[in-house]
Amino acid sequence: MAQYKYSERLVQANSWAFDQDYKPGQPVTNAGIYRCRACGDEIVVDKGTAIPKSHHEHSLLGPVVWQLLVFAQKHPGR
Ligand SMILES: [Zn+2]
Repeated sequence: MAQYKYSERLVQANSWAFDQDYKPGQPVTNAGIYRCRACGDEIVVDKGTAIPKSHHEHSLLGPVVWQLLVFAQKHPGR
């Protein structure tokens, strides 16, 4: 599970981006931490790059499907 120390450095948001499913090999629109819906494994993916195709597989849990957990954002003043 992703961890952080300073809660004032993160903000809760209700963006649709957190509900979108990504398959292995699919490019992402947000840089950030992605979580496997089936097993909870987490990976970092850069903006515009693809979810790794061979990161891991499940034998019993079903297909590997990723969802955005936390996305990185540029400072709004820059
Ligand atoms: Zn998994």
